[in-house]
Amino acid sequence: MKPVMLITGGSAGIGAACARIAAARGYDLALNYRSDDASAEAVAEACRAAGAAVLLCKGDVADPQAIADIYDQIDAQYGRLDALVNNAGVVDQTAKVTDVTHARLRRMFDINVIGAILVAKEAVLRMQAGGRGGVIVNISSAAARLGSGNQYVDYAASKAAIDTFTKGLSDEVAADNIRVMAIRPGLIETELHAKGGEPGRADKLAHMVPMKRKGSAEEVAQAIMWLCSEEASYVTGSTLDVTGGR
Ligand code: NAP
Repeated sequence: MKPVMLITGGSAGIGAACARIAAARGYDLALNYRSDDASAEAVAEACRAAGAAVLLCKGDVADPQAIADIYDQIDAQYGRLDALVNNAGVVDQTAKVTDVTHARLRRMFDINVIGAILVAKEAVLRMQAGGRGGVIVNISSAAARLGSGNQYVDYAASKAAIDTFTKGLSDEVAADNIRVMAIRPGLIETELHAKGGEPGRADKLAHMVPMKRKGSAEEVAQAIMWLCSEEASYVTGSTLDVTGGR
């Protein structure tokens, strides 16, 4: 049986790029997304054309019941889980800390932190039960290092939590042959920036990147897929920047 990979936020951007590469590399897939059925179907079709079985699991990772439903579907269709790309995440409009609201913080941390931790928890339980180990790649951000002052400090703080969670979880499960890493993407051309009200953000800030350009979702996905591969078999607890040097 093929290895099975769950990608949260698999309908767009970095998650969709991971799905396409994973399908070509022999994984069967569970693709989670929140709302965009048409994009999810298009990614699934491309992956099926590359030979993968694809289970679409629509659901908001901020909702614990939705996470339970996602894993019920994976258990029923595949009965195993070998890799998790813990990628679903959101930004918000640019705002100073003095302007953030409780509702904004709740949404940001429910999706980016609590959702990610609960998704990882359920993956670990299955990887431990399967006895084959597994791989978890959490998607952080360069913002965790940069702080994102005057842009979205709350987003940066949510990603810093992911970095710390990655190290702690990796220590807990290393002896079970479960590797846990994080990737910190930099300025990557996806729809994320438009969703935060700044469609041109990657182009606007590209001059600040030592390599003087934005990155692509595929460039981030290649690094994620390397961490998932046997080529990275002695890597765990690490956080890898994919930022063009920023
Ligand atoms: P994107 O193009 O906006 O795609 C986000 C994906 O996540 C979509 O599939 C979306 O599904 C899904 N999603 C959003 N909220 C969700 C929720 N509550 N539950 C389930 N799925 C949800 O974003 P991206 O740029 O690929 O970002 C992917 C990850 O990389 C995020 O964690 C982001 O913070 C991180 N990152 C991105 C950049 C960058 O420059 N792009 C930089 C650093 C870090 P729907 O479309 O159906 O809502």
